[in-house]
Amino acid sequence: MRVPGCGECQRLWEEYTDTTFALVKLDTQVKMATLRYESLEVMALLKEGVEAATHRRNAALARLKQHEATDQTRSSSRVLEFKIPQRPAAGTLTKTWNQNLHR
Ligand SMILES: [Zn+2]
Repeated sequence: MRVPGCGECQRLWEEYTDTTFALVKLDTQVKMATLRYESLEVMALLKEGVEAATHRRNAALARLKQHEATDQTRSSSRVLEFKIPQRPAAGTLTKTWNQNLHR
């Protein structure tokens, strides 16, 4: 998930989707080439391309995950989320406290 307003998240996410599309495209080319019984040279080139594209995609994914784990925007908003609990209705809160006191 992306943090709105974080340029790095945006950039890394785009890099990841771009490399994924490139890989899917190459994968389709391999399938087409297989159907056309392309030469071994062509198949070898395509296989190299797929390997390189897979590597780029995995690297982009790793960078995205790495950034998400260390994203300051994300971690600060998460802390904030936990620090502010849902405020219960006034009556419910008093009741709970009384129960705890008399336990
Ligand atoms: Zn970010």
